[in-house]
Amino acid sequence: MSGAPLGKGVTTLRPDRRHLAEQVTPDKLVQAQSARASRWERRRSLRRFTGLRRIRTCGLSTTSESGATLGVVTGSGGRRSAAYGGLTTCGSVWACPVCAAKIAARRADDLATVMRTVDDLGGSAFLLTLTMRHVRGDRLGLTRTERSRRKELEDRVWSRSIARRNGWDVDVDQAASDDDELAALVASEGCWDVLSYAWRSVTSGAGWQADSERFGGLLGWARAVEVTHGVNGWHVHIHVLLCFREQVSADLARAALGPRVFGRWSRALGRRGFSASPEHGWDLRRAQLGDGDLADYFTKMAHEVTSGHRKEGHRHGGRTPMQLLGDTVETYEAGDMARWWEWESASDGRRQLTWSTGRRDLRALAGLGREATDEEIAAEDQDADERIALPRETWTRITAQRQETELLAAAEHDGLDGARTWLTSRGLRWFVATPGDGPPSAVIQPYGWRDDARGVLRRP
Ligand SMILES: [Zn+2]
Repeated sequence: MSGAPLGKGVTTLRPDRRHLAEQVTPDKLVQAQSARASRWERRRSLRRFTGLRRIRTCGLSTTSESGATLGVVTGSGGRRSAAYGGLTTCGSVWACPVCAAKIAARRADDLATVMRTVDDLGGSAFLLTLTMRHVRGDRLGLTRTERSRRKELEDRVWSRSIARRNGWDVDVDQAASDDDELAALVASEGCWDVLSYAWRSVTSGAGWQADSERFGGLLGWARAVEVTHGVNGWHVHIHVLLCFREQVSADLARAALGPRVFGRWSRALGRRGFSASPEHGWDLRRAQLGDGDLADYFTKMAHEVTSGHRKEGHRHGGRTPMQLLGDTVETYEAGDMARWWEWESASDGRRQLTWSTGRRDLRALAGLGREATDEEIAAEDQDADERIALPRETWTRITAQRQETELLAAAEHDGLDGARTWLTSRGLRWFVATPGDGPPSAVIQPYGWRDDARGVLRRP
């Protein structure tokens, strides 16, 4: 994995091919291809009713006038992986089946790297889960616009308090109206907003300072949010990876940290009119790489995103948002549709994974560098040994016929030769592109000429 820091807006190719080295049976390959086809299919259906504009063009339009590229990587085991380059992506980690799978896979890699580092240092890692009580009808959370307005008002209240302390003039009418608006926004907060507030309360103050000094010192934490929808409405909870410098037994960590962390958690919930069960509200266990830890959780999530079907079983007795989407696009049932829209508006712009910072920066500890944003990960093109260029009209025809994943499968089965044959047999134009090329900058072809299966131009 590359530890080089990324510039803002810069995307890089990922040279990591570990996943291609493993032996994959033909059955598994077919399974993976059909899961991918299902993700693309669900995104296609979602485009018709999503409230998020950027999902409507995700994977559909190209970033360059000249079209898209198709690249193939071959792993040491001979397994091929094909992907498109030069496509617009939405980077919606919560709502887009295709982008969410890609982002979850990357987060799992990062977390696994962090855990390996902690292990190498002789430290220990724990998985802490915190939940809250919820009832049907509880709102999921403020919309993105409401959240940014709340932030704006909080900033104004803060500046005003400084002004008052310094004896400066304050517009009292404006102050009163801001206070009222802020109070109304806070009163309309949903489970997700309260959960974020409660986690901030857990990780601040003298109690947290004391907790962080235990077991040789806290190296840092990473927090993931999980949401499901069940008979009691939205169920929002968090999973936190806590890494300490020393080896600690699960029993000791549980006894020393559990009740203290849960105490701050449930008091914070109480201040916002929510509560948590003392018996079932928290869980703390030792995290082992690939065995129910947070990295594993993200890997599973990447797989869950791939399926999104009822038969996959329900987490915590509820449907994951991707299962909700799967059901919605199958039935277009009004209740599911409304829940999906609530999901989109409440989740938009929120972070799925947050890291402790400053001297408890786990990413820096593991040499991971700056975290790529969701949008950057979604926009990354797969590394490729060889590519072909697909001019715009070819890409338009492929998307209109819903054959995007069929072409990928052809390229994975027989390499780019297979892709070329597939394209040529359908009368679709393609061009040779050199490895590492982005989208073709210009495609010049004399009128009336056609290319043969090897990409060589032939006179008619
Ligand atoms: Zn997307």
